[in-house]
Amino acid sequence: MPATRRAIVAGNWKMNLDCAQAESLTAVVAERHAEAGTAELVLCPPAVYLAVVDSVLKKVAGKSPLSVAVGGQNMHDKASGAFTGEVSAAMLLDTGCRYVILGHSERRTLFGETDATVNLKTKAALAAGLIPIVCVGELLEEREADHTDAIISKQVRESLAALSAAELSKIIVAYEPVWAIGTGKVATPQQAQEVHALIRRLLGELASSAVASVIRIVYGGSVKPDNAAALAEQPDIDGALVGGASLKADDFLGIAASFG
Ligand code: PEP
Repeated sequence: MPATRRAIVAGNWKMNLDCAQAESLTAVVAERHAEAGTAELVLCPPAVYLAVVDSVLKKVAGKSPLSVAVGGQNMHDKASGAFTGEVSAAMLLDTGCRYVILGHSERRTLFGETDATVNLKTKAALAAGLIPIVCVGELLEEREADHTDAIISKQVRESLAALSAAELSKIIVAYEPVWAIGTGKVATPQQAQEVHALIRRLLGELASSAVASVIRIVYGGSVKPDNAAALAEQPDIDGALVGGASLKADDFLGIAASFG
């Protein structure tokens, strides 16, 4: 990974932990954030704990500056209105978020999100001043049918349609092969690098190769402390989006250390 891109490791807590656990995990990560070296850390708790996580980070940051940010796991593309159960970009910002995960495969598979809805959310996040972490990834049957490149190209082009080069320069893309999420089956570093290089070429077509060279592309899918170093060695892998292993401070910080 070139020095022009700062590694980023985000923990997607999904619908896990209670309030006390969210507080204590945040406190441990914050106190030990230096173990991540130069890597930036992001904690993405359930929406109801965002403010709690933010306040613990602020308390610890009072003692020494932190490079730990807060991120949402999802948002609505509209600013406000009759959308029961949803949160807006402004609400995420209000609770201390800098980032938001968009188009996670669980949102796509279980909640009917499409490239079109991810595109609307990406535009709304950027307009509000949030940094979107836009997820793409192929299913196992798509990889086995040799359709990975076509699927990733479609997801990247459509999820990021009609964004300016300036907007694209702010986003993060997460490559998360669906067959690797929560399965313990990590993509090989070579498989991941091939797709990351493809995504960077596509970003070059959508913006320019100069812009593509600064966009961070992170890998997600069963990243653990013992496989992170090999992923981190790849030239186009700029960090990780971590699910299960982000719930344990030692594992999350161990992964981050490989990228830092
Ligand atoms: C994820 O849900 O984004 C993810 C990568 O999960 P896991 O690390 O558990 O595979």
